[in-house]
Parts: sequence; C-alpha cells; structure tokens
Amino acid sequence: MKKKNNHMTGNYITAIFVFICAVAASLGVFLVEVQRSIDQNSQVTMANNVSRQSDHILSILDIHYGFLNGIADKMGKSEDLLSDENMDMLVSICDNTDFERTALIEADGTSHYDNGAVKNVAERLYFKEAIRGKETLSDPLESSVDQETRVILSVPVYQNGKVVAVLGGSYNVTALSRMLFDDIFDGAGYSLIVTMEGEIIAYDGEPAYHKITYGDNFFEFYDSKTLLGVNELQDVKADFAVGRDGLIKMRNGTDTSSDQYLSYTRLGMNDWMICYVIPVSAAQKSFDFIKRDESVFMGVFCVLVLVLIFYIIYRNRKQNEALLKSAQTDGLTGIYNKRSTEERINEIRDENPAEKGTFVILDVDKFKEVNDRYGHMAGDKVLSEFGRILKAHFREEDVVGRIGGDEFVVYIRRTENREIADIRIRELISKVRQFHFPELKGGNVTISVGVCFAPEHGTCYMDLYKNADIALYETKQAGRDGYRMYQKE
Ligand code: GH3
Ligand code: MG
Repeated sequence: MKKKNNHMTGNYITAIFVFICAVAASLGVFLVEVQRSIDQNSQVTMANNVSRQSDHILSILDIHYGFLNGIADKMGKSEDLLSDENMDMLVSICDNTDFERTALIEADGTSHYDNGAVKNVAERLYFKEAIRGKETLSDPLESSVDQETRVILSVPVYQNGKVVAVLGGSYNVTALSRMLFDDIFDGAGYSLIVTMEGEIIAYDGEPAYHKITYGDNFFEFYDSKTLLGVNELQDVKADFAVGRDGLIKMRNGTDTSSDQYLSYTRLGMNDWMICYVIPVSAAQKSFDFIKRDESVFMGVFCVLVLVLIFYIIYRNRKQNEALLKSAQTDGLTGIYNKRSTEERINEIRDENPAEKGTFVILDVDKFKEVNDRYGHMAGDKVLSEFGRILKAHFREEDVVGRIGGDEFVVYIRRTENREIADIRIRELISKVRQFHFPELKGGNVTISVGVCFAPEHGTCYMDLYKNADIALYETKQAGRDGYRMYQKE
C-alpha cells in the first residue's frame, strides 16, 4: 500500500514537472516572440525618427530659402545690384536671422559680404550651381573671411527673367546641429548629418557614449564595430552612395551590452544623410517591464508549484500513516492486531537480541458465558474496555496487542528485574478482577495469564508464544484468575 502511494506521489510530481516544463517552454517562446516584436517596434521608431528629422530640417531650410528668395527678389528689382539699399539688406539679414554671414555675388563671382569684405568665389561649386538658377546648399566650408566653418545657402537673383547674381547666406555648422532634435527614447540617442562620403557635418544628442566629432569620418569611426546580421560597412557605404534608407545593428567586438542601432535616411535636398544612433538597451528600455513582470510571474509560479508539491507530499504522508495505522490495529480495541503484534515483537527482538523482556499471554476467563449472558455486543464492549485497560497499564514502549477472540499479548520491554514485571502482572489481574464493566450489570471478569522471559525462553515471537501458552494452560488448569511462569523442564 505504501509503495502504491509513493508511486502515486511520484506520478503527481512527474505531472507537475511536465506542467512546469510546458509553462517554461511556452514562456520561453513568448519571450522570444516578444523580443522579436520589441526589435521590430524599436526599429520602426528609429526609422520614423530619421525621416522626421529629415522633414524637419527640410522645412527649416525651405523657410530660409523662401526668406532668401524674397530678399533676392527685392534686390533684383534695383537697377544697381550693389546699391546701398541692397547692401543694407545684406546686413539686416544677419541682424534678424540665423544667418551669420551673407553675400551678394556678381555674375563674375565677385562676392560682396555683409561685413564689407570682397572676394572672388567664381570657382566655388555652390556659386556655379546657383548662377545657373539652382538653390544650393554647400558642404561645410572654411570661410577665408573669418575662418569659421559654415554651410552656405545660395539662391539666384533674377533681373528681367535672367540670373544676374547669387544671394548667399551661411550658418555655422553648429546651427545645423540645433536643427536636429532628440525627443524619443528619453534623449538617449544622437543624430548626425553626414555626407555621402561619411564626412560629419553636424551632430547632436547624448554625449556620454559617442566620441565622434566634426571632421571625423563616419565610416572610419564605425569600421571597428562588428555589424550584426548580413550587413557590412560596405553595404552602408553603398546605401549612402545612392541615398538609400537603412538600419543596422552593431557591436563592440563580442560585448553584447555595447549593441547599438544605426538608422539613416537621405535628407532629400542634397547628398546628405541623416543618421540616428542609440544603444539597443536604451531603445528597448521601455519594454524592460515585460521581462521583469515575466520573472516575477515565473518566481510566483514556481513558489506556488513548490507549495503544491509539498502539500501533496504532506497529504500523501498523512494518508500513508493513517493507512498504515489502520492496517496495524485491531478494529475493536484500537491496539495492535495479531500480525503487527508479531511483527513488532520480532522487530524488537531482532534489533535488541540481548534485551531482557517479558512475554505475557492474557485470556479472558469463561468469556463465552459473558457473551451468552449479556449478548455479543456487551462482550465486544468488555473486550474493547479491556484493551484500553491493558494499554493504560503498560508503558508506551511496551507492545500491547489482541491476537485472537479474547486472547491478548503484552511484551514488556527491558525487564532485567523480573520482580517488577511480576508485580505489574499481579496488579493487572487484580485491577481487572475489581473493574466494574457497566455492560456486566454488577458482574465482573477475570483473566488468566501465562508468562515467559526473553531471551531465556525464546528469542522470537513464536517460541515465546508457545512457552507462554504452556504457562497459560497451567493457569487455566489451576482454576483461572491467576498467572504462571513458564518453567523449563
Ligand atoms: P476459557 O476460560 O477457557 O478461556 O473459556 P472461554 O469461554 O473464554 O473460551 P475461549 O477463550 O476458548 O473462547 C473465547 C470466546 O470468545 C469464543 C467466542 O465466543 C468469544 N469471542 C471471540 N471473539 C469475539 C469477539 O470479537 N467478540 C465477542 N463478543 N466475543 C468473541
Ligand atoms: Mg477465554
């Protein structure tokens, strides 16, 4: 029975284990899926960000071009391009806008600056394009007038439908940086404007983790990184060359905590690219709660499952104990039954072969008459009460059992002094004789006892029983209500 119950507990635990594995596996799959969608989500946000940056800069440049075109329009209306009025306008542009330097450039390339300087810029690309009627935005140029690095916006000046001059306005490159913004991922990323060759024109954002600056080459800077996935820096260069959007993940060597995203898009006005870089951990920070919540869930789940396992083990053990007890006990008296009396005594004898013990058989005298006179039910009650008296009379460590109808056995442990055992037995016989069983309506019962000693008269239940039974027979022969010790012939 015990084996069967252990087997059942094993089955329960296996079932729970399988269940935990299934839950853990589904959580694992869930996590992988969540991670994939987090990746996708943050990449979409990044791609949107570079395209917003691009739109934003374009709209600012549009305003500035519109402004320059308005002035160029007014200048073109003056007969004398270099009139005082036009020159005053050059100065007022600087005074009232983000432009730091302005110039009116004649068709031969002679450039008249707002600060009075004059220089020929006929060879400059921005001039060559603008004089052909195109709005231009130059790469950063170091001004020979004041050595500042600037980008120049140029628009053609028309007179009678013909381009007669160019109006230029320049910003310091830092003004371009101010056009970049960082309103996502808690400002943890940084944005760059880069030429198709990788020259950095402007940058803005979190300075803590980037060491890139003006004049650096973007591709050289990222050459040391490991690009994840199928990308190679060559692919990024190819994208830049044709102004194609892209997004890559890169890493410092094998350090996964250094993973960064880089997304880029074309500015849409010239060959400049807007780039946005951010650590992957920062881009995905807002999703950290999913992993945290899942860990909490797993923790609570495991604790609950452990509690359940312990509860099952506890319940099972209790059930085993109850079953064992009921298998060992005599149903009527609640003391050991015949089989467990025998097993328990043999167990004690095997474990303590040298122990001196007293083996006692007790049989109710003329019990048939009790049954006949008072009925079987009353007889049962007398037997049950007698069992209780026996149990109470001996010590906890002694073995007390009912081995037959009105036959009982007591094994008194550690009776080096036989006199003490002798006294105990006499006391019991007298106690039973005087005991008032309510079922017997004033009548009483007596018992006959046979005694032998271990190991002298036997070392196992059967031998001891045989010899004590001989003594019991003698008691019965001698008139009952007494006891005899077994005498070896
Ligand atoms: P003796 O003095 O020689 O022992 O006479 P006795 O009448 O007690 O005879 P014995 O011990 O041989 O018989 C025991 C009787 O106990 C037989 C049966 O009627 C009765 N008995 C056995 N089991 C039960 C039981 O569970 N309940 C009741 N009420 N009586 C039982
Ligand atoms: Mg009897």
